[in-house]
Amino acid sequence: MTHIPVDVLGNPYGSKVVLTTYPDIGGVRPVPLRWGESEPSQRGPVIATRTGTGAKTRNAIGAHGGSYSVYNALAIAGGDLPPDFLPDFTNTEPTFDFKQQPAWGSAEKIVAMDPFGHIISTAYKKYLQEGYDVRPTIAITRATMRVGEIAEAVKDGKLPVDGDIVIDDEGNVRVTKVAVEPVWYLPGVAKRFNIEENHLRRALFEHMGGSYPELITRPDLKIFLPPIGGLTVYIFGPPERVSDPSCNLALRVHDECNGSDVFQSDICTCRPYLAFGIQEAIREAQQGGSGLCIYFRKEGRALGEVVKYLVYNARKRGGDTADKYFQRTENVAGVRDMRFQALMPDILHWLGITKIDKMLSMSNMKHDAIVESGIPIIERIPIPDDMIPKDSRVEIDAKINAGYFTTGTVRTAEELAEVKGRGWEQWEDVAH
Ligand SMILES: [Zn+2]
Repeated sequence: MTHIPVDVLGNPYGSKVVLTTYPDIGGVRPVPLRWGESEPSQRGPVIATRTGTGAKTRNAIGAHGGSYSVYNALAIAGGDLPPDFLPDFTNTEPTFDFKQQPAWGSAEKIVAMDPFGHIISTAYKKYLQEGYDVRPTIAITRATMRVGEIAEAVKDGKLPVDGDIVIDDEGNVRVTKVAVEPVWYLPGVAKRFNIEENHLRRALFEHMGGSYPELITRPDLKIFLPPIGGLTVYIFGPPERVSDPSCNLALRVHDECNGSDVFQSDICTCRPYLAFGIQEAIREAQQGGSGLCIYFRKEGRALGEVVKYLVYNARKRGGDTADKYFQRTENVAGVRDMRFQALMPDILHWLGITKIDKMLSMSNMKHDAIVESGIPIIERIPIPDDMIPKDSRVEIDAKINAGYFTTGTVRTAEELAEVKGRGWEQWEDVAH
């Protein structure tokens, strides 16, 4: 990589720092953008970059890449990346051409992602040729994946090798993957939370350390690219079946839990439920339907791992019982959950899902958000009891008591006090 010595080049931004812009100052002419137009050319491209003439022509607040926008700025600061770099999108087109859905042209159904984010190199070619920095916010690819539990299910004969989805007896599975970065239409996001747009803008500005002053000074800019993680859709079976109402659909909506998902910590049911979700999604696809797993980057109920571990400590030191499970989180975080599922169904509408035959989730919050957005859920399937790690009973029983779906027993408040997690005693015996 060429390293450009910034000191030699001098200040690439000029001597004046433009802290913010206003709609009525000279030269501010955002590229027109009409959220909810079904024709991409009528809707207009999302443009966020500030470099060059961007500060005056951009129509979105924030920066591309979600949380990775910070690394992008660091790469520029360090001289590894020129500030005016424009990507070359040759051969990056989607591996599957998703059929346009009615929701793509709705300012109500989709407010948290750009429905045309995957086709910018064709839909906004003219802008790219004119030198505008239009960037994809959706990418679609295909891959072969292998998950331990799935390989085992294949070995045990629970999932057949069909040569198409499960391609061999080692448990390799073909998948179509869709990565989505968040693009928020602020009036629509405010509406989902039943708050005023101005109130949302002010709260975002104030509580992100005064970042993005245009949230306040540019009420004409309705798009915000928040510095948060996005989501990935894993599709098993032919992707065209996802929006076909004559095909059964199995779905797992999963929120990230790195400790369990990747490192298989046994304090929660995340990884086992994820593996079960993938297994049932594959099974549905093998039976002529469609199976999906949607993975949201909302670590620790969107509270992050630092808060999560503080809560673990409070639980283990305070006697880890299910009746106090949520209180421990509330003590540290002020709330029990910050995932706010209100924006989650956008991806389902984008995919053209009109009903879910098998919902592989027990969360009442996910269920309610999906059903309220107009997608019926026909059957809800809890995680099988034999997949629940012993130490995670505290979590699952507390959740069931708080409204999570179950076909089994709902324990009373008194009974919850009897559901105890493993303490640290044995750990401390061996770790000293
Ligand atoms: Zn977890």
